[in-house]
Order: sequence, then structure tokens, then C-alpha cells
Amino acid sequence: MRKQTQPKVRLFNIPKPGLFEAGSSWISRLALSQGADLREILKLLKLTGRHDLDRRMCGPRLTAIRRICGLDSSALAIHERVMTSLQRIHRVGANYLAETASRQPRFRFCPQCLSEMRPPHFPIHWRFIAWRWCPMHDCLLEDACPNCHHPISFPVDIAASKAGRMGYAMLNRCLSCGMRLDRIEPCYLQINGFRRVSSLEQMVLNNGRALLATLYFRRFSIDGRIGHAQIARLEELERHGGLPPQFDWLAPEKVRLRKLAGKQSGLSHWNVFMSADK
Ligand SMILES: [Zn+2]
Ligand SMILES: [Zn+2]
Repeated sequence: MRKQTQPKVRLFNIPKPGLFEAGSSWISRLALSQGADLREILKLLKLTGRHDLDRRMCGPRLTAIRRICGLDSSALAIHERVMTSLQRIHRVGANYLAETASRQPRFRFCPQCLSEMRPPHFPIHWRFIAWRWCPMHDCLLEDACPNCHHPISFPVDIAASKAGRMGYAMLNRCLSCGMRLDRIEPCYLQINGFRRVSSLEQMVLNNGRALLATLYFRRFSIDGRIGHAQIARLEELERHGGLPPQFDWLAPEKVRLRKLAGKQSGLSHWNVFMSADK
């Protein structure tokens, strides 16, 4: 008897993933482009289940997704590289990704980056608890929508979301209330000649950035001696508070108030900190 082969599925009109885009952000845009229910797309791409969607979009599964969508091997390559590195340091890496209370991928965002992206999307580094600062715009990332306080989470059925039902389909809007996230005044760290964060805080922000560089450039390995030393260093760094400790550490709404305090008193603890360090 002849073996029945499954017809090969191929999707068209695929949104091009952003260079740094997270899989869960792109899947949301993909479902919208296909006019499909998000669940149908997840089922088609064999991504159903409770596991972290971004962590699952690696290796053979991602290769199959690229084939179905007609994407070349560079699509979502940075997402894959960072997620694969994270798997390698699972001992310490498990807690690095932000999640909502219902364990969905959670993201912070830089309003200015969102306003410059064409089309707006959410990069994978915005999922990292340690990535608290946008070095391009020297501002803190926002934790949630300032209007409805809903966390930003993917994947989302954009068409069925509140913003989608209002006729907004772009990710520069909060999908829970429709507010433009790219029009929020960023929490800039340099205001009127003084820095809103202490040098110690800045060091922790820099370490968060270095963590992502480590994951991307893979200066560690789990097999070799040097690799073990690197992992131990990460653990040590974490233990000594060298990485942003929790999601709401240095929340922008608190740092924004520092500007007011600075104006009122003329001198505030963070510029004392700065001058003491010099
Ligand atoms: Zn930015
Ligand atoms: Zn909102």
C-alpha cells in the first residue's frame, strides 16, 4: 500500500520579522496577516501547549516555521541565538525572562524605539528582566501601559483585542486599551545636566546590557572549563546584586519623580551619589 504523505502547507503574505523581533511578537503579527485566529496559527505551526513560546521557537521547530512561511534562515536568527544560549545556561537562565502572572511572555518597551520601528514590533531583549535601559535613547524601558496598567504580553490575537476591535492593528498601541505606546514621553536619564540614576544603578543597568551581549556572542560554553567559570561568574554577579534583581527594580514612574525632587530641593541623593564618585 502506498504511504500517504501530508500535503506541505505554505503560507503567503507573511510579515517580515524585525531583525531583533521576538518570536511571540512576530507570531501575533503573522496571525493578523493571515486573517486567522491565533489558536489556528499556533496549531498549524505546532506551537500549542503551555511552554514558553519564545523558548520553543528554536532549532527544528523554527526551521519548520521558516519553511511553512517561506522565510530564509536569517529570519528570527537573533531571537533563536539568544534563546538557544539561554537554554545552555538553564541553571541560572530560567529566571531571566519576564512573564505575566499567567506565565505568558511579558515585555517592557522603549516608547522612542517603538516610534522609530517600521512596523512596530517587540525585540527579544525587551523580554529580559535585566534589560531595563535603552542605550540608544538613554531612557528606562516602560513596564506596562501607563493608561490601563496592563502588562504587555504576547502572543496576542490582535484582531480580537480591544485595540483590534477599535480598528488598530499595529503594535505601537496597547492592545488592551488602544493607547499609543510610542507617544509616551520616555523616562530619559539625563535631565537638565544631571543624571537621574546613581553610578551604582548605572552599573547594574550596564550589566543588564552585558548579559544580553553575553547571550548573543556566547562567550561561554557549558562544556569547557572556561564555560563553567563564566556561568559561575553570572551566578556570582546575580548573588551580589550586579544584575537588576526583579522586574520592577528602578521603575520609571519612581525615577520620573526624581526630577521633581531635584527641582524642589536643588540637590538630591542621586547627584550627591554622582559627585561623591568623582
Ligand atoms: Zn529606545
Ligand atoms: Zn493600555
